[in-house]
This record gives sequence, C-alpha cells and structure tokens, in this order.
Amino acid sequence: MLDDILTPEERALVARAKAFAEEHVAPHAARWEWERRYPLETIQAGCRAGLNTIELAKDKGGQGLSFSAKLRAFEEIARHDFAFAFAMMNHHNAVARFARDGAPAHVARLLPRMIAGEVIGCAGLSEPGVGSDFGGLEMAAVKVDGGWKLNGAKAWITNAAVCGMSVIYAQTDKALGYRGIACFAIEADRPGFHREPPFELHGGHAIGVGGFRLVDYVVPDEALLHPPGRAFKAALAGINGARAYVAAMCCGMLQASLETAVRYTQQRRTFGQPVLDHQGVRWKLVDAATDLEAARLLSYRAARLIDEGADAVLPAAHAKKFATEMAVRRIADCIQAMGANGLRAEYPLARHLAGAKIAAYTDGSIEMMNERIGVALPQVFG
Ligand SMILES: Cc1cc2nc3c(=O)[nH]c(=O)nc-3n(C[C@H](O)[C@H](O)[C@H](O)COP(=O)(O)OP(=O)(O)OC[C@H]3O[C@@H](n4cnc5c(N)ncnc54)[C@H](O)[C@@H]3O)c2cc1C
Repeated sequence: MLDDILTPEERALVARAKAFAEEHVAPHAARWEWERRYPLETIQAGCRAGLNTIELAKDKGGQGLSFSAKLRAFEEIARHDFAFAFAMMNHHNAVARFARDGAPAHVARLLPRMIAGEVIGCAGLSEPGVGSDFGGLEMAAVKVDGGWKLNGAKAWITNAAVCGMSVIYAQTDKALGYRGIACFAIEADRPGFHREPPFELHGGHAIGVGGFRLVDYVVPDEALLHPPGRAFKAALAGINGARAYVAAMCCGMLQASLETAVRYTQQRRTFGQPVLDHQGVRWKLVDAATDLEAARLLSYRAARLIDEGADAVLPAAHAKKFATEMAVRRIADCIQAMGANGLRAEYPLARHLAGAKIAAYTDGSIEMMNERIGVALPQVFG
C-alpha cells in the first residue's frame, strides 16, 4: 500500500530495516526484557545501519528520505519489539530536530557524535507532575548573562537511561502560560544534570524510560532551539508524525501476533480438527485481520498527508486512537486463540500486548485523541 509510493531507495531502506530487526532485535528482545536493560549496543548498531538518519537532510550527513519511509521502516522493526523501535525512533527524532533547529556551531560539535551513536538523544516534555497537560510544565528557565539557568525535573523520558543530549521544554514566565515555554538542547555531561534511575516498566525496559533533574544547570544562548512563543507550536508540529508512526508500530505488532497465532492454530488440534477451523476462534482472528487493514490505512494516510505538508492533525489522531485500541484488544485475542501457550515467552505476543498498552499513552493518550477529535466535531460534522 504505502510501499507503492516509496522510491526504490526508500523501499531498499525498509528492506534493510526489516533485515536488521530480524538479525539484531528478534533474537534478543525477550532477553532484554528479562534482564531489564536498555540495549545500547543494538541502538548503536542501528545507528551504524542508518536507522537514526532516515529523515536527516543529506547535507547534514543523513539520507534525506521521506516520513513515510521512516514510518514503514519502524513498522517492520516493531514487529519484533516495540520498545526497541520506540527508543531508536526517539533517538532518530532528536538527531533530526537538533540538526534542523540547533545553532550551527553547536550542531557541528555534537551532531556527528549523535549520528555515530556515541551520544543518544531524547525529548523531554513530561515531568513528574505533568503529562497530558504539558502546557502546564514547571521546569523553570531564567535568562542569565550569555545563557539560561534551568531548574526542575523531567520524567517519563524515552532514552533517559543513557541520553547524552535532550531537547527539553521549560517555562520562562508562568504568567504567559504555554506562550512562555522555550525549547533547549541540553547535554548530560554539564554540571547540574542529575540522572534518575530508569523506571521499571513491564514490557518496556528497552525503552530506557526515566528522568533527570536540572539544578542550576546553565546553558549558553546557542542551546536555545526555540524562544518563548515558538516552542509550544514547534512541539505540536512534530506530534502528528509521532502519532502516525506509533499507529504503524501497533500494526507491526499485530501483524506479528496474527502470523504467530495463525501458524499455531493451524497445527494445534482440538476436538478432531485444527483450532483455526473452529469458527469461534477463526472469526476472532478474522476480526483482528480486518482491524489491522483499517489501522494500516489510517496510519498510512496520515503519513502521506505529513509528507505532502497537508493538515494531518485529525488523520493522525484517528490513526493513533484506532490503532492503539485495536492492538490491545486484538493482540489479546491472538493470545487467547493459542490457549495457554500464547503466554509463553518464546512467542512475542505478551511482550507485544505490553507494547500496545504503552503505545496507548505515548505522544498523547487515547483520551487526548478523543479531545482532539472532539474539538473538531462542529467543524467536521456541524
Ligand atoms: C514508555 C513511555 C515513554 C514516554 N516517553 C516520553 C518522552 O520521551 N518524552 C516525554 O516528554 N514524555 C514521554 N512519555 C510521557 C507521555 O507523553 C505521557 O505518559 C502522556 O502524555 C500521558 O501523561 P500521563 O501519563 O502523565 O497521564 P496524565 O496526564 O496524568 O493522565 C492520567 C489519565 O487521565 C487521562 N486524562 C488526562 N486529562 C484528561 C482529560 N482532559 N479528559 C479525559 N481524560 C484525561 C489521560 O488520558 C490518562 O489516561 C512517555 C510515556 C511512556 C509510558
């Protein structure tokens, strides 16, 4: 479907991402979860394979490919592990954002190390007390001579376990509300950066999600990516893409779950016939296949609109809402069809179920998607 509009170079990238995931992710993902660890060495292997430079402009050392190509590549990776795909994607996004918005001298110093995977990037909006309503964030930024002084905490940040660079949002003037928010590129090796231990997250240890505190952390002026008045808008500009690719990642997880369940129920027999031939089981998997088709169409449509520069707010919200909800329900149905064996760790289904549940929060929860769609109801249907 979406592959039809990709260039040959982009289709080759998707094939490379698929091969990378089969070789480097599939055999290890369950172990990362048992060992409760962040697979830094595989993230770095992903960097060497170009999984962090897909959208980065060619003159900055990237591949200059489309958003749709990136989405398809990461759908393939998420077939094997959502957590790894999400962590790798967040690093990619930090690379691309920093390269685009950073001060030239800062970018020249740091970007090559981020491309090489020596410095891992992340994005920090959420805080211990602030999630959905991120316009109310509390990290404070105060202007000082030659730079800014930052104080406050970030939480629930993907890649925080190892990040060397973070694109963070901080409030410069509470009275201005969301218009007072500014965006900075900060580095973890400067005084005042205190990393918290990563969170224990069922099914998501490879995301390396956690937080850090900034205590009288001073950044030079060059670290300001977006001044107050522009940062909040810049954060929202990237969110449609995130919603579309999270939806595609859910499709990848359900694709793998269906393949596993169909193969299993074809060979497992009860009451004298393959389990798949019992209508009660078959129709459940049929419903899952139909939902997968619909979720793919929604996420691919949002991706195409993003590449065309068209308004993708509602398509991305519909895609994320539908795909995350259906993935939780349908991956559980695939497990059910396999009986108790569906729960065994040799199959990826239980891990994918946890991944789908995690996906339902990242980059805006299902309720926030409803709020977004709800605000537009009068325009669309009124
Ligand atoms: C694995 C993982 C990785 C993440 N990575 C990042 C990251 O890299 N960077 C980052 O900044 N953040 C990240 N997040 C945070 C994520 O964006 C938040 O979890 C999300 O915004 C929801 O916020 P919350 O969890 O604090 O829920 P809350 O905002 O506390 O909301 C609690 C519940 O109430 C619902 N709710 C809230 N307001 C309303 C309303 N008005 N109407 C109806 N329902 C409502 C929510 O949908 C949710 O179900 C990550 C989260 C996870 C789980």
